[in-house]
Amino acid sequence: MTDFVKNGLVVGFNYTLKNDKGELVEKSQQPMEYLHGNHNIIPGLEKELDGMQVGDTKLVTVAPKDAYGEIDPEMVYEVPRKNFPAGVELTAGMQFQTETDGGMMVVTVKELKLDSIVVDGNSPMAGQTLHFDVSIASIRNATPQEVEHGHVHSHGHDH
Ligand code: ZN
Repeated sequence: MTDFVKNGLVVGFNYTLKNDKGELVEKSQQPMEYLHGNHNIIPGLEKELDGMQVGDTKLVTVAPKDAYGEIDPEMVYEVPRKNFPAGVELTAGMQFQTETDGGMMVVTVKELKLDSIVVDGNSPMAGQTLHFDVSIASIRNATPQEVEHGHVHSHGHDH
């Protein structure tokens, strides 16, 4: 099958991800599968994989706006200490989930003040230009259920 990556197909790819400093951020341990055209992966990468074939490799640079967004200063805010559960020792760099009007989000503790905690709701990847080295490992048709759900059912994801 000589299929090209296109909307509605399930694509498996290996990747290494480096930041602007050339530091390794992430490396796939096994091909990551996603349903092409459904925004399962960051838009700047999805667009570049379009039309590739199994075995193809590509270096893809993705600007923040097409990845995890620019850093939003308004996402950095102070939370009163009393809002945190007692007995939890807070340290800078800690990450935890919190519920907001917009749903669950992960925030990072930036700074500890006497009566409040400064937290950052930006993604740790926000503001970063991403450098992917990708290779296409597989292309297959999506199952009807995958099409219906808009994501792949593999690697233990089932419901
Ligand atoms: Zn599903």
